[in-house]
Amino acid sequence: MVEQKEKKPKPKGMTVPRQHMPELPVEERLKGFREVALGYTEESARIEAERCLQCKVPHCIPGCPVNIDIPRFIQQIAEGDYMGAAETIKKDNFMPAICGRVCQQENQCEAVCVLAKKYESVAVGRLERFVADWESAHSDGRMSLPKLPPPSGHKVGVIGSGPAGLTAAFDLRMAGHEVTIFEGLHKPGGVLTYGIPEFRMPNPIIEENVKYLLALGVELRCDFVVGLTATVDQLMTEEGYDALFIATGAGLPKFLYLEGENLCGVFSANEFLTRVNLMESYKFPERDTPMIIGTNVAIIGAGNTAMDASRTARRLSKGRVRIIYRRSIHEVPARAEEFEHAQQEGVEFLFLTAPVRILGNENGWVRAIEVQKCDLGEPDESGRARPVPIEGSNYIIELDTIINAVGTSSNKTLFQTAPDIARDKRGYVIADPETLATSKPGVYAGGDIVGGGATVIKAMGDGRTAAKAINEYLKTLAPKER
Ligand code: FAD
Ligand code: SF4
Repeated sequence: MVEQKEKKPKPKGMTVPRQHMPELPVEERLKGFREVALGYTEESARIEAERCLQCKVPHCIPGCPVNIDIPRFIQQIAEGDYMGAAETIKKDNFMPAICGRVCQQENQCEAVCVLAKKYESVAVGRLERFVADWESAHSDGRMSLPKLPPPSGHKVGVIGSGPAGLTAAFDLRMAGHEVTIFEGLHKPGGVLTYGIPEFRMPNPIIEENVKYLLALGVELRCDFVVGLTATVDQLMTEEGYDALFIATGAGLPKFLYLEGENLCGVFSANEFLTRVNLMESYKFPERDTPMIIGTNVAIIGAGNTAMDASRTARRLSKGRVRIIYRRSIHEVPARAEEFEHAQQEGVEFLFLTAPVRILGNENGWVRAIEVQKCDLGEPDESGRARPVPIEGSNYIIELDTIINAVGTSSNKTLFQTAPDIARDKRGYVIADPETLATSKPGVYAGGDIVGGGATVIKAMGDGRTAAKAINEYLKTLAPKER
């Protein structure tokens, strides 16, 4: 008799579905700004972690811009060693609670997970968030601070406190330098604080990361606009900074250049979100900074900013909120989860529709928008199908608030007094791709100010690259007596 070979059981990743993350019910969400995605429980995190195949050659590590040892931290979760998992992640990413919430994992580590080819990828981002939240909940407010090396005798300035600046400050401090962060606004965090709303990125998480940096001895100087409060040259000569890292982001709104754009009731998404998040108008009347919003709102664009603006508008307005986007549903650039949440929360979508002009009333307020239907044509320079307006398809939509979320550009303030830092024709800093060194010796740049609006993790990766290059540069200088 031929012996039957016992069939090997299929790995869990092929038989167990990706674990769902619980979410706040829609009716609850619309009552305020509570976080929508609620995170994994220990049980669902362990089940999800066991789905990982522990590939011998893991694709997910190079898929992560800061190269976290993903299989290792997932294995540690599966074994119940959550603190160990936190340590593994923090070797490469000191802000996992943030990345776990806002990284576009579906285009990064999760996109290259081998399971994604036939099944669903391991939920790397959700697991990262689970570990970070578990660590925070079990640390009793204590911070386990790493041991710092002896002082290097060098002083480095970081301009901007978004993800690029915070990451660079951490790495530079860990190399023993004196580090000061200069932030133009009254609160640190960059887009994480002023742009991404509380229901997606609660501010206490950012504050905890900043507190950690301060506990390590990083100095933070808010309300300090480099270019106005002091120039780059003044920081390097009068204040004695040996090197600077420019991480000022791309916070200037791009205009639509449409008739009627300057009417009352037309906002840029950054202004709208800053008023709501940074000025806390969502807490009105507890805060005396109300936000005037109508009952018929349109948002132009379909990126993460547009989703944040539309979902914020749904929470503040009692009426309809529509997204107007000139491409189709297939080109929506926002994170899949944000797009899904916007749909669940009742945001309406007008795809293949482009704004043509904005119409106002006799008091100078917006009253309607003229739009035109589009078809998709050949790909443009961005690689996406070009929207082609359809002749004679124009129509008018009555509304009272428009939020422009078509993108941002670089802010010139710093560079007006630093003309020796070379920039490209769009105003972004030209930096060496390997080291992020600019045309000015000792000055480095990264994040959105190099190449334009991108992602949190790209900004963090740049912060890390620049810190490494700054360390090398500082080795060429004699340490100063301070
Ligand atoms: P920023 O975060 O822009 O920080 C720059 C900081 O520099 C700011 O605090 C600014 O006040 C300060 N600054 C500017 N000029 C000066 C000066 N002269 N002196 C001193 N300080 C100065 N990415 C994702 O990966 N996932 C998302 O879900 C996501 N959602 C987003 C939602 C919104 C609404 C927006 C606007 C962006 C979103 N992004 C997202 C993109 C991401 O937030 C950015 O790519 C990232 O924040 C860039 O980081 P940064 O450090 O370069 O700059
Ligand atoms: Fe696990 Fe996917 Fe990474 Fe393989 S690629 S180690 S399955 S997360």
